Amino acid sequence: MPSKEDAFRYIRAKIDELLTVMGTQPLRPEELDDETLIELDPIGIVSGAFSQVIAHLNETNHRLNLATDEIRAILDALGAAVVVLDLDERIDDCNRRALDWLFGGVERERIVGRYADEVCDASGELLAVRKAADGASHEVCLHGHDVQIVASRILDEAGRHARTVMLFVDITRQKQNERHLQLYAEVFSHLGEGILITDADSRIVEVNAAVSRITGFPREELVGARPSLLNSGLHEPAFFRDMWQALHRDGYWQGEIFDRARDGRMLPLLQTISAVRDPAGRLTHYISVMTDITSIKETQTRLDFLAHHDVLTGLPNRLLFGDRLHHAIERARRDGLAVALLFIDLDHFKNINGSLGHQVGDQLLVEVANRLRGLVRQSDTLARLGGDEFVVLMESRVSHATASKLADKMVTAFRQPFVVNGADLYIGCSIGVTLFPDDGADAVALLKNADTAMYRAKEAGRDGQVRYSAELSEMAHSKIALDHALRAAVRDGRFVLHYQPIVDIRSGRVVSCEALIRWPDGPAGSECPNSFIPLAEETRLIVPLGEWILREALGQMRAWQTAGLTLDYISVNISAVQLAQADFPDRVIALLHECGVAGEQLQIELTENVLMRDIELCSWVLTQLREHGIRVAIDDFGTGYSSLTYLKQLPIDNLKIDRSFVRDIPGDPNDCAIAGAVIGLARALGLDAIAEGIESQEQEDYLAGMGCSLMQGHRYAHALPADDFARLVAAPAVPA
Ligand code: C2E
Ligand code: MG
Ligand code: MG
Repeated sequence: MPSKEDAFRYIRAKIDELLTVMGTQPLRPEELDDETLIELDPIGIVSGAFSQVIAHLNETNHRLNLATDEIRAILDALGAAVVVLDLDERIDDCNRRALDWLFGGVERERIVGRYADEVCDASGELLAVRKAADGASHEVCLHGHDVQIVASRILDEAGRHARTVMLFVDITRQKQNERHLQLYAEVFSHLGEGILITDADSRIVEVNAAVSRITGFPREELVGARPSLLNSGLHEPAFFRDMWQALHRDGYWQGEIFDRARDGRMLPLLQTISAVRDPAGRLTHYISVMTDITSIKETQTRLDFLAHHDVLTGLPNRLLFGDRLHHAIERARRDGLAVALLFIDLDHFKNINGSLGHQVGDQLLVEVANRLRGLVRQSDTLARLGGDEFVVLMESRVSHATASKLADKMVTAFRQPFVVNGADLYIGCSIGVTLFPDDGADAVALLKNADTAMYRAKEAGRDGQVRYSAELSEMAHSKIALDHALRAAVRDGRFVLHYQPIVDIRSGRVVSCEALIRWPDGPAGSECPNSFIPLAEETRLIVPLGEWILREALGQMRAWQTAGLTLDYISVNISAVQLAQADFPDRVIALLHECGVAGEQLQIELTENVLMRDIELCSWVLTQLREHGIRVAIDDFGTGYSSLTYLKQLPIDNLKIDRSFVRDIPGDPNDCAIAGAVIGLARALGLDAIAEGIESQEQEDYLAGMGCSLMQGHRYAHALPADDFARLVAAPAVPA
């Protein structure tokens, strides 16, 4: 039978053996520190050794006396807590770690012989484990640590269960590692990115679910295969050579790669491959992380398209067109060829948008784009610059004749109605044409000049084409100069109003006057308002200018009244742009109040075309004005197109017979007939007629004979400054 010393030696040997297993030189027991023991998995080794000791002792049926210093030193050096319980659940012995951990750091003497449940924080666990079978193992949580408890029975000489020795091992770190590993495993399998791991020999050892989802290959087909299984054949050998070079040099490669899915589909992937090495620097694995960028690629393509195309019509936009124009000019310059540009603008598109709504406007633009598409050649570029502006770039076999022919075809094609929502819409277009190199040295000049030519086409009555010429640019320049001068004149109040009498020839009385604007120090040619009013309308400068005119005219009216000069009303010309201001009626009424003039004493003159442009708006505005007694005259009557139905519906007081019909009276039978018809129409509608431009007795006589008695013209007076007008009214106006 082995002696006690034999048992000690045996334990020493076991511990040394254990240290050897751990890769450490055998130590003296006191050199065993906790860290060293816990560092590697302490459970398998320490508890294994321990239970072997116990088993050995049991086998030899020998009582272990723990009081022996050497054994105590060994046990105290253990990272684990050791507690020996007798069958009454009294503590028989314990080591240092147990005192610290389980018994609140008290001395051994105060613990030994006491009942476990009196002194131990964890007596519940302790006793539960003790009751379990020999070698039972139990994991519990003690003071925030994960602890494994292993129990072994110690038998007495008769082989009866005498005590239980229990080992408490802190496995917190191991548990943590386990949890981390579990987390990594979760991440690995649930990651949206595919992860493919190969060994150093490039054989796939593991893939996550995402790889299968992305490539369509099940895991079983991938593991053991080579990544070349996914090769799309799309990349040159040089691509892979560079990739491997980077992997060898940097241990890392990232890039976009096209793989092939199991169903043959191309897979654009963003891939990151990292080489994995062991501590000795030997290559062990490659880890490849792949992201499916199919949708990113699609979005990119779509964004690219959107950046270069007009969403509504799908035509190239300004950006792409600019690019193409630029390149076309480069090529043409190099090869000595021509390039033509057609600048197309729809006529009165705003009216469609305004009256039928933007949705109809948009639909019309789509129809226009389709029609234009049908007219251009494959080699031409048709683009939408924005709004109702389209351009065509002609590149091959271009001459002025071919460009002009295409422009004509377009103008003609626009004569056919466009069908929008089942309704026929008519819209014309104005086209400006330029040719490289004749009409512009670069893209910017060519486009600008085409735009200028297009404007000329508009000015020339729309619905046609104009080829650019240098004079057009001059015209455009003088227009800009005029605009500057006009703005300055409005700002500085450089305008005056002149007044032309309107005479009732039956009584010879000046019943009214028309206010006509003059620009005394305006540039040469600005004597006639027709030379600057259209531009002021185009630039909307007419809005502030028109307001000034109204205020000035009403102020004058008031001044005359105060001076005892009484007119029935004053007549003021109003432009379409003013009328379209939403607050126009309010503005007029405010000005009447401001100047102290009654509504009945103001007449506004509108041309027929203004009325017909937006009949609903006009009807609304005129009704508002009528409620305040304001009179309405239709100016230049007979030169526009008006519908008699509307004339009847709108609150109108006067028709002014245009002076072009008066001029050749009584010599021209046509004019006589027209003037007569207008007078008859006025009478039928219950309106007054005013004849404009009366210069001679014959004209007066003829029109008076037709029943018109209100007359305006040089025969009575030119438009006069206010003072001259006042003097004239004081004296009889009708020539003898
Ligand atoms: P309108 O309203 O038809 O004005 C009548 C034009 O005929 C005036 O020309 C007047 O001077 C001219 N006139 C009058 N009697 C005779 C005549 O016996 N013979 C000839 N040959 N001409 C005569 P003006 O002042 O040059 O105005 C031209 C146009 O400019 C006006 O035509 C009107 O459309 C516009 N305009 C004038 N003043 C204003 C204004 O204050 N505001 C706006 N929006 N337009 C104005
Ligand atoms: Mg007028
Ligand atoms: Mg007139």
